[in-house]
Amino acid sequence: MAIKKNRDRTFRFSPISFEDYVALHAEANRDENERAFRQRLKEAVEAKRAGQLCECGEPIWAIGSAAAHYACFTCITGEVDPSNDYEIDAALRSNEPRSISPPPVDAPVHTTQHRRRRVE
Ligand SMILES: [Zn+2]
Repeated sequence: MAIKKNRDRTFRFSPISFEDYVALHAEANRDENERAFRQRLKEAVEAKRAGQLCECGEPIWAIGSAAAHYACFTCITGEVDPSNDYEIDAALRSNEPRSISPPPVDAPVHTTQHRRRRVE
């Protein structure tokens, strides 16, 4: 049951801004209510920033959580490597680079900027 992952659980998503992703999603899902999706995504980003965890213990994937249910990338997609998928930049950890270069896997995790990192 215990699956070893990156020890700091830094997934290497491709960061995207909230507005850029909403536009991207709206274009790909023209029959979907953009306003409703925007609200769901906003809530998912806020939940992740507040420390919402998947039932497996990983931080949730905000984009996938907005479309499906609150869960991490692996539990939603069944894949381990998210490097071809987006995550909202605001939902990534503050110490993760917001550039196109992937963050180092062993980057130190600074929690001082967060009131709490996870919900116990
Ligand atoms: Zn999970």
